[in-house]
Amino acid sequence: LDQKAPKASDPSVKVAVRIMPGAGDAMLRKVSDSLYVDERKFTFDAVFESNATQEDVYQSVGAPLVKDALCGYNASIIAYGQTGSGKTYTMWGPQSAMVDDPSVSGLQGFAPRIFQDLFSKIQKEQGNVDGKQINYQCRCSFLEVYDNKIGDLLDPTQRDLEIKDDVKNGFYVENLTEEYVSCYEDITQILIKGLSNKKTGATKINSKSSRSHIMFTCIIESWCKDSSSKCFGSSKTSRICLVDLAGFERNVAENAGRQHVKEGKYIKKSMSQLGRLVNIVAGRLPDKLDEVPYRSSRLTHLLRESFGGNAKLSMICTIRPDHKSSSESIRTLRFGLRAR
Ligand code: ADP
Ligand code: MG
Repeated sequence: LDQKAPKASDPSVKVAVRIMPGAGDAMLRKVSDSLYVDERKFTFDAVFESNATQEDVYQSVGAPLVKDALCGYNASIIAYGQTGSGKTYTMWGPQSAMVDDPSVSGLQGFAPRIFQDLFSKIQKEQGNVDGKQINYQCRCSFLEVYDNKIGDLLDPTQRDLEIKDDVKNGFYVENLTEEYVSCYEDITQILIKGLSNKKTGATKINSKSSRSHIMFTCIIESWCKDSSSKCFGSSKTSRICLVDLAGFERNVAENAGRQHVKEGKYIKKSMSQLGRLVNIVAGRLPDKLDEVPYRSSRLTHLLRESFGGNAKLSMICTIRPDHKSSSESIRTLRFGLRAR
């Protein structure tokens, strides 16, 4: 457990880009951490080409956040990109891989890797370190925001939960299931359950899955005491928040029926507010956080909590390699640049 004060020089927002494998053409060209799309240049903290492995991307984007979370930061990862560009693959990986040993299949996404890492670090630190005793307690929730309504992915009967945000009780989602977890297996069970519930929804409403935001949160509480004193002294709370955003395609808003138009409008609004929120975090202007009307979209209202305080945020922008997707890719990269 690192009790050191956060280093101000660490950038609080990092943005990486991942290109999905597939038939591409000369449209995309990577030169170190820059990407050229149709001769336009975009520079990020990292650019991963289609041959990058899940492990490569995790080591660069995911692993640092585990350390941050154990140092007391609120650490979030957001996956952003058009539908079918690899957000879900990057964030969770195939569900079958969650129960495998990573050294065997290697297909695990960020989530299973993060928690394997987290619990192995917690197990090492729990107990007595340097005459200090540290205890940890972790709890998780998994929700989806669809058409500006919050649904509980761990209890699909709950489809329209309220955010409570008052001075007396602080911030919470009313009635959202929270499960205590103490090992990696506890987490994988929750991930698989939640992701399966999202899937069930997708068959009911045509491709709903690409139009909902999903958010997994793990709250980590720790208590530290000197072996000389009898009671627990300092306590710390931090959170890890993994967000797989809805695909933000132009055609979602422009094609298709009424319901789609409504959804498209909602997604567009929540994304533009998300952009402003991320901008403020990136500029390290926490006092400006409240200037974004984050309450008018459930997504930003939820994220406001994770971005507040000492926050570290990584965004992974996923893009497709084909020429047909170039305008969506450019939109995705522009969003990423605004955050950085
Ligand atoms: P999104 O969540 O952005 O809509 P998905 O993660 O579902 O996209 O990816 C679309 C398809 O492409 C899935 O079948 C997924 O397994 C596959 N895929 C995405 N990225 C990769 C990758 N880097 N390597 C192999 N397959 C990938
Ligand atoms: Mg997806």
